[in-house]
Amino acid sequence: MPGSTSDNNKWNLGYTYVYAVCITGIALLLIYNQGIFPHYTPSTWGWVYALVGAAVILALLSFQLPPHGNGMSLDSSVYLACIFVFGLSFALTVLLLSSFILCIVKRDTIWWKHLFNFSVYTIMIMATSLTFSGFGGSSGPLLSGLLHAYAISMAIYFSFNALLIALFYYIVLKASLLDTLKGLMRDTLLAYLSTLVLSLVLTILVYHNGIVGLVLFLCLSVLLSYSFKQMFTMYRSIEERANRDQRTGLFNHSYFEVVLEEEIRKSQMNGAALSLAMIDIDDFKKYNDHFGHLKGDGLIVFLAEMLKNETTDSEIIVSRYGGEEFSLLLPSHDTVQAKSFIDRLRKTLNNSLFEGTEIFPQGCLSFSAGIAGYQPDIHDKSELVEQADQALYYAKKQGKNMVHIFGNQSLLEQDIDFSQEVRDIEQQLNLFMYKDLETFKHSKRVFRYAMDVSEQLHLDALSKRKFTLGALIHDIGKLEIPWGILNKKDKLEPEEWEMVKWHVTWGKKMALTNDKFKDLAPYIELHHERYDGTGYPYGFKGEEIPRLCRMLTIIDSFDAMTTERPYQTTKSVDEAIVELRACAGSQFDPELTEFFIRYIESRELRPKVASL
Ligand code: GH3
Ligand code: MG
Ligand code: MG
Repeated sequence: MPGSTSDNNKWNLGYTYVYAVCITGIALLLIYNQGIFPHYTPSTWGWVYALVGAAVILALLSFQLPPHGNGMSLDSSVYLACIFVFGLSFALTVLLLSSFILCIVKRDTIWWKHLFNFSVYTIMIMATSLTFSGFGGSSGPLLSGLLHAYAISMAIYFSFNALLIALFYYIVLKASLLDTLKGLMRDTLLAYLSTLVLSLVLTILVYHNGIVGLVLFLCLSVLLSYSFKQMFTMYRSIEERANRDQRTGLFNHSYFEVVLEEEIRKSQMNGAALSLAMIDIDDFKKYNDHFGHLKGDGLIVFLAEMLKNETTDSEIIVSRYGGEEFSLLLPSHDTVQAKSFIDRLRKTLNNSLFEGTEIFPQGCLSFSAGIAGYQPDIHDKSELVEQADQALYYAKKQGKNMVHIFGNQSLLEQDIDFSQEVRDIEQQLNLFMYKDLETFKHSKRVFRYAMDVSEQLHLDALSKRKFTLGALIHDIGKLEIPWGILNKKDKLEPEEWEMVKWHVTWGKKMALTNDKFKDLAPYIELHHERYDGTGYPYGFKGEEIPRLCRMLTIIDSFDAMTTERPYQTTKSVDEAIVELRACAGSQFDPELTEFFIRYIESRELRPKVASL
């Protein structure tokens, strides 16, 4: 697998980096601290022990910082104070002894991490101390005239720390060095500034108040560590609440969107399998109508609990997608594995006892599910959701209580279905034959364009079905517009225009009354939205409007320009192309406009379609 080879390479590079830092740290310590500690006086040893104690206590009181949980502790303030009061070799001695104690206390941590930590601190302490002396600083009391030396050397301490850690992420995770650095700075700046200020406070306290000063400092730092810890706990609990659905305790829709994007990115990077399952309770409306919404809620919670129990200790992420729909994201599952898992859940639900199941047509609780698998050509998360949704729709159409994988139905089956649906819509459109023949002909032409364009766009069978049927039915709401307005030869009055605009909403409502046409509603409702957000009924902008609805708007307008209509002068095809281009970016999606123009230009049978 290509993913695993590059992973190995990254880890090998990571280890090399860790070894290089460890060797540098140890070499620096050996060079600068040769045989210095045997010469300490007993009182200096007393200070060494006291400060080692303080550093160990603070290192053990480590805390995490929001939002990413970066680990930190305030022990750096002790090392910095050691440099400022006692000098470099003393600081290194304190570091050496406290690292040794931490190695014993935290035996669970792997040895090389201790060594790496120790080496990073050594490098930081040496760089800081050299900078401090370079700017005229010398060990002893805090001198107010040398504030710049303290500030610059502390900035060096912080920068080395951030750089050495960011380099590790850069090598192992291939994260951008600059972004990692910026992220670290942003997340840890407050805690780091506290550390730096504390180190100056400790410098003053140790110099002037001795051990009492050190104890006071420890109290202050312990309280501060505790506050940071509390802050993170609070942040996590707020974050947790924002990501959860109140009723079921499952993740909510917005969190699902975030995780889906993350998982798709992971699969893009390492080629791992990923499946998405959309689940919808069968005939839930019946249950609601029969027992009321409260009981209905109970059923939703019941299924949510089951999904939770069946997925604990797995990497499957379950969310409440909305209403009585749930989404399951299954990393490392191909569609066949995902189907067998979801089928097992379905059977468990079928066999579950629950009050009132006798009212269901199947006599038991059931759901239908659609599954879509991640493919390398999927770039946008909405494509995967759309595919799972289509598979769910198919499962419902096959009689419910079943799981269907997107793309698994036979082409013949789709075609038979499709032609029947076209006939159904055509029957409805026949009403236009007497009310507005223009709209009748327009709908048929737009349907033809949509058929051609869906070939050019290489749409899958289900998207093609929705797009073309959507094109055929898009103006159905005009049946509600009074005859006089629909067929008016003169310019429409403003209030008449307002009424014409309502056709998108009326049309949507009409489609929603029929189960078969429910999923065509967006084409009916959104084909007058404009790319720049100034359309109606919602004023959706750019990609807020589904892609194929944006395409329908172009087709619809092109046909309106090139044929006679009560409120539009007729344009030649060439003039219409000029107009499309002029409105690309404002009314139309520019990319799709060019795509459509290429199709129009390459079409040989131009006059035939235009004169239909
Ligand atoms: P189908 O088998 O085709 O899915 O039929 P259905 O009856 O389940 O129909 P559909 O999925 O379209 O409708 C779901 C209904 O669920 C619509 C709404 O009244 C109801 N509903 C949505 N959210 C909630 C909720 O939180 N609580 C309750 N009690 N009902 C809800
Ligand atoms: Mg539903
Ligand atoms: Mg349902």
